[in-house]
Parts: sequence; C-alpha cells; structure tokens
Amino acid sequence: MQKRILITGAAGFLGSHLCDRFIKEGYYVIAMDNLITGDLKNIEHLFKLEDFEFCHHDITKFIHVPGQLDYILHFASPASPIDYLKIPIQTLKVGSLGTHNLLGLAKEKNARILIASTSEIYGDPLVHPQTEDYFGNVNTIGPRGVYDEAKRFQESITMAYHTFHGLETRIVRIFNTYGPRMRLNDGRVIPAFIGQALRGEDLTVFGDGTQTRSFCYVSDQIEGIYRLLLSDYHLPVNIGNPHEITIGDFAEEIMRLTNTKQKVIYKDLPQNDPLQRQPDITLAKKILGWEPKIDRAEGMKITLDYFKSLPEEELFKKEHKDFGKHIIK
Ligand code: UDP
Repeated sequence: MQKRILITGAAGFLGSHLCDRFIKEGYYVIAMDNLITGDLKNIEHLFKLEDFEFCHHDITKFIHVPGQLDYILHFASPASPIDYLKIPIQTLKVGSLGTHNLLGLAKEKNARILIASTSEIYGDPLVHPQTEDYFGNVNTIGPRGVYDEAKRFQESITMAYHTFHGLETRIVRIFNTYGPRMRLNDGRVIPAFIGQALRGEDLTVFGDGTQTRSFCYVSDQIEGIYRLLLSDYHLPVNIGNPHEITIGDFAEEIMRLTNTKQKVIYKDLPQNDPLQRQPDITLAKKILGWEPKIDRAEGMKITLDYFKSLPEEELFKKEHKDFGKHIIK
C-alpha cells in the first residue's frame, strides 16, 4: 500500500525539496505550512499531482490529519538568524508547542517521526569539529537563544516520546545547507553574498571574517535525511558537509565566481555568532553509509544559476520579508 507522509514546513527551502523527493519515491505527500517564512512558489509545481495535497495550517494549534500516516517530517521553523530575531516567539512556539502536537499526532497514527534539529544546538562550540556527543555552549537569553533552545527542547521532548511512549523517532542535526529555493532576503550568508554580488554591491562580512562555516549542498542533505528516516537509528545524527571555510575566504570565492568588481566591507559580528562550525560525520558514514557528493564549486554554480534566473525585481527587492500580523510586539 502507498505510504503517506506529512511534511511540515513544506513550502520552505528544505521542506519543498523533501516534498519533491518523497513524491519521486512514490509516497502520498501531505504538505503543511503556515506560510510565515515559506513560499508556495517552492511547491506550486506539485499542486497538479494526485499524490500531493497542501494544508495551510499553523502546527502550534491542534493538528488534524484524516486517514493513515506512516511518516512525519517536522521541518517547520524560521531558520535564519534574521527571521528568528524578527519572530522570536513564533520560533519558540513552533519548536516547542508545534513539536508537541506533532509527537501527539505521530503517537495517535503510529507513525515514525523525524524532526529537524540543527548544529545550533551546539551553540558557539568549544569542541571542534562537532560530534553528536558534544552537549553544546548556548546562551539561553542571547538573540539566538529562541532558536537554539527551542531546538534543544525539541530534541528532549522527542527523546521523551521515544522512551516513554515507545514512539519511533529520528533526529537529524542539520548543518548549514544551501541551494535553489533559499530565500534571497532571509539574511543568510549565501543568498546575502550572491544577492549583493548580482546587484553590484559590496559584500558585507560580519566581524573580521575569520569565523568558519561548512556548507552542504541541498541534494546531499536531502539524501542524508532520507536515509536517516528509513534507518533504525533513533539518536541524533549530524548531516552536513565537513569542508570548512572562513567567511572572509568565502566572500572572495563568491566575488571570483560572479566576477564582482566590488569590495568586501566589514560590519559588526552579531552577538553569539558561532566562531567555528564543522560537522563530524563519522556517525552518518557508519550508520547510513552517507557522505556528501557535491563539492562547493559544483553546488555554488547551480545555486548561482538559480538566483540569476529569478526575475530582476526579486533580486532588487531588498526589504526583508514582511511578517505583518505575525509579529508579536
Ligand atoms: N554573515 C556575513 N555577512 C552576511 C551574512 C552573514 O558575514 O551578510 C556571516 C554570519 O555572521 C555568520 C556566517 O556568515 O558568521 C553564516 O551566517 P548565516 O546567517 O548564513 O548562518 P549561521 O550559520 O550563522 O546560522
């Protein structure tokens, strides 16, 4: 019988790529999103399919899904530092109340649930590269606390449902991932630099540019998540690309790639911005037989082509997404 999967955050960057993947694998996909940060453009190509339905819903409210459910993928959350600064309370609620509702739904339906956690649970890490057994270094009351602590709570409640209710749970810790369908103005470094380069603006490096990140191309990330869902491993697993680069070097790389004549300008480093980040993926290699296949040169080329293909007004629409009524003062 055809498997049915619920994907939350389905209109977002990773959620939409997961919809594509599970449709391709022959699943019936129920895509859920409240569209605060997501965009229907990312999934509109799926609307005509019989095996796909969209449900406009805020998962912090009770969730009703008729019929059988075999799997749940929980990818609903603001995920860029600017987003969660603008909507901190929704960020806390979706990771806590939203996750609780989904765990209850999974229990009711006897479904396996995979939740999207993040390298942010390691905070500004004192262990490098980050292994799954590192507990992290998070400032609970800093600007990133709303995201980091929501995700840490999400892991805890998921484990509690696993041990107390015997629920089948999976936890992926996602490291910086990029590719087509990232929001151009979400403030994250890859769309920010590409947007600046394409508009002919200077590239804004925060701090002195010595902080590091390790960027994973989206198709590799989706493959890791897919394998983890179908594995029998219930503890957290890092999925990311271990190839680390400083943000300063990365800005130079983007300027070369886009033939940009502008320069780099330096701005203040945001509070609690992690100074280094690189996943240790030994565990993922061992239990999932997974490692990234797409290097940055290849992934960035595809991503750059995607951003170049956007209508010009998108590129010059510089204001951050207007969250309107969703912003609670
Ligand atoms: N960053 C930057 N310039 C920008 C946007 C981001 O130098 O215009 C830096 C940011 O301070 C961080 C890194 O790039 O050190 C990655 O930021 P991003 O927001 O993509 O994600 P994070 O990994 O911090 O969650």
